[in-house]
Amino acid sequence: MERLQKVIAAAGIASRRKAEQLIADGRVTVNGKTVTELGTKVSGSDKIEVNGVRLEREEKVYYLLYKPRSVLSAASDDKGRKTVVDLFPEVEERLYPVGRLDYDTTGILLLTNDGEFAYQMTHPKFEIEKTYVARTKGIPTKEQLKQLERGIVLEDGKTAPAKAKLLSMDKKTGKGIVQLTIHEGKNRQVKRMFEAIGCPVQKLKRESFGFLDLHGLNAGDRRELTAHEVKQLR
Ligand code: URA
Repeated sequence: MERLQKVIAAAGIASRRKAEQLIADGRVTVNGKTVTELGTKVSGSDKIEVNGVRLEREEKVYYLLYKPRSVLSAASDDKGRKTVVDLFPEVEERLYPVGRLDYDTTGILLLTNDGEFAYQMTHPKFEIEKTYVARTKGIPTKEQLKQLERGIVLEDGKTAPAKAKLLSMDKKTGKGIVQLTIHEGKNRQVKRMFEAIGCPVQKLKRESFGFLDLHGLNAGDRRELTAHEVKQLR
């Protein structure tokens, strides 16, 4: 038996908080009866409807994708661009990406049909570490790396403490390779942080997400997460 709001959130149609609101607002029925009690427990065979629409209770699936460039992190695109979900043509579950990588960013991206999991993985309070490697135009100085670590004031607030390390540099071309570890996910955060210190990103790859990395995968490859990995992440 699981709590009703958890089941609704897990179906991917609302966050846990929104699911609670839907229940409190009397928009949810269980086996035909309106339920407004938040702690209500339901089993796999109970028929749940939200706003009169039957909740699909698919089996939960979790994938790790090595996102290639020129693919959109979304379930669909108005402009007809290829999306990360298009890379899973044979998967019947309604997948969507956990957070986003920019169109031209490569690297590790999780996809799932588990809304609750997606929420946990992207909420800053869960503090999942993400490590990026950026090729920058300009080589950041020690002081600029410290600035990245201490936090950068962006339009939407100051970034939390991070780790930054210059992995290599090419003085002739004036380019740096910098590893940056953050645990937030503001829109275009890494690129904006580097822009702010005057070393714009030319190429970006996410190398790890929590304890997960791209080991054994090439761009475009994916694998399912093991049940143990999913448990460890939560
Ligand atoms: N930060 C960015 O700027 N872009 C990404 O794709 C991911 C993090």
